[in-house]
Amino acid sequence: MRALTLVADRRLELIDVSPPPLPGAGEVQIRVKVVALNHIDLWGFRGMAFAKRKLPLVVGVEAAGEIAAAGTDVATFKAGDRVVMYGALTCGACKACREGRDNLCESIGGIMGFHVDGFARDLVNLPARLVMPIPSGIALRDAACAPIAFATVEHMLFDNARLEPGETILVHAGGSGIGTAAIQMAKHLGCTVITTVGSDEKAAKAKALGADHVINYRDERFEHVVRKITGKKGVDVVFEHVGADTFPGSLLSLKRGGRLVTCGSTSGPTTSLNLMQLFQQQYRIFGSFGASMRNIRDALAKMQAGLCPVIDTEVELKDLERGLERLQSRQAFGKITVNF
Ligand SMILES: [Zn+2]
Repeated sequence: MRALTLVADRRLELIDVSPPPLPGAGEVQIRVKVVALNHIDLWGFRGMAFAKRKLPLVVGVEAAGEIAAAGTDVATFKAGDRVVMYGALTCGACKACREGRDNLCESIGGIMGFHVDGFARDLVNLPARLVMPIPSGIALRDAACAPIAFATVEHMLFDNARLEPGETILVHAGGSGIGTAAIQMAKHLGCTVITTVGSDEKAAKAKALGADHVINYRDERFEHVVRKITGKKGVDVVFEHVGADTFPGSLLSLKRGGRLVTCGSTSGPTTSLNLMQLFQQQYRIFGSFGASMRNIRDALAKMQAGLCPVIDTEVELKDLERGLERLQSRQAFGKITVNF
């Protein structure tokens, strides 16, 4: 079977490997059909100095497929069922796992495609508890964007920032995979959405997606425009993942008592923080990483209700690297998916 394998930093090879054994107790075997790309794939591809991992490594953290076989004791899945998979090997036994806070697992085995072999291969065995059925009516390609992109946004907006109907939110990088999801989810809830993009072409697409106000951050200082739009009050919530380039402006865009939630730092990981501003303005800042199985279920339910991910590009498995280049170029509007 095929496995797209990172053999050295920035070197991917489609190699032939032996298929996994029949699924053991509590396991299912999945035939992977679609992988969706995320920034963590890009970090993994380029290499990170402090990541504890060994190459070669099969890439891919977010995927959908079909059950090929189920362990004899697994009654919840049968061959042919369409499924998505959790993007990390949680232990299933620690306090966080038992309480459904999967992304806070105290004994995590690693992130798929980053620390341990991922989903860019024809067959994979996984514990059935990390696999979730796809409701009817959702295309596999769309479902493949649920476990990381949509579920991460669910976790950020609803578990962490506690976004409420009628609130105003600033969504950074509205053309990114998670940015497009955040715009849709916030509009779906009944919020006013302000978003930033880097081109007029993306501005038109963000408007079409439902954003109320779109700021081209190359033309204008977004924090000034946000204060103008909100009558100097600021927004209730900022959805951050850009990092160094935007973080100080993001804090200036918040109203008193506002919430900032961040899951990324694509423009750089460090920033300075004015502590007087932090406590006087009573900001609440949430770090968010990954999602729970419940977030994935909720994301799939939203997809079933018609909230579909925006797909920018589809590539074939052998061309995954071209998909990563597209992601890195910041030209994409929406998700990049990889078909098998
Ligand atoms: Zn655990």
